[in-house]
Amino acid sequence: MIRVLIVEDEERLRKVLKLYLEKEGFIVEEAEDGEEALEKFSENIYDILVLDVMLPKRDGWSTLRQIRKTSDVPVIMLTARGEEEDKIFGFELGVDDYVVKPASPREIVARIKAILKRVSRKSIEMTEDFVVDKAAREVYIMGEKVELTPKEFDLLLYLYERPNIALSREQILNAVWGYDFFGDLRTVDTHIKNLREKLGDFREYIETVRGVGYKFEVKK
Ligand code: CA
Repeated sequence: MIRVLIVEDEERLRKVLKLYLEKEGFIVEEAEDGEEALEKFSENIYDILVLDVMLPKRDGWSTLRQIRKTSDVPVIMLTARGEEEDKIFGFELGVDDYVVKPASPREIVARIKAILKRVSRKSIEMTEDFVVDKAAREVYIMGEKVELTPKEFDLLLYLYERPNIALSREQILNAVWGYDFFGDLRTVDTHIKNLREKLGDFREYIETVRGVGYKFEVKK
């Protein structure tokens, strides 16, 4: 299932887009401004963001700059005509595509699909020793597939997309299991333990942060 976050303050456009994307089988969440987007982003896993430039509270560029501190999630920017000069920001911030408003939802859906296809191909072609293929939900170590349960994969992905950031067990539990999950923080520990076992030599990527939780440590 592909998860999309739509960040757009124009309610009508947001709702129409949501409807279209859901019809295509995507899971869609909405944010009305930049602050809400950051909040949702820190607590959930998304495969792609559709981000408007002109937003209340915090504009699209500032929002994206914040997101890029922890994640390289694909992003489509919604821009108004005449904002083309801003694309220089976009280049720095790793924007995957632009849609100039007014845009048809059908066009946005097509662009999302194209980007996701590109991203998944890229991760498959990576020759590194540790590969997380988001689209296929598979992990490879030295070319060997690692058998993970769906929750183990979600957990790994959540950590992996936030490298070198200490994440509390509560944060992890809410993001990976959801707020309505009836369980305690030890659930996180148990899954981390299993995940580490399956990762073999790569277990050291997942570090315990005493008194807090865990982090995905990427040596620089
Ligand atoms: Ca707007």
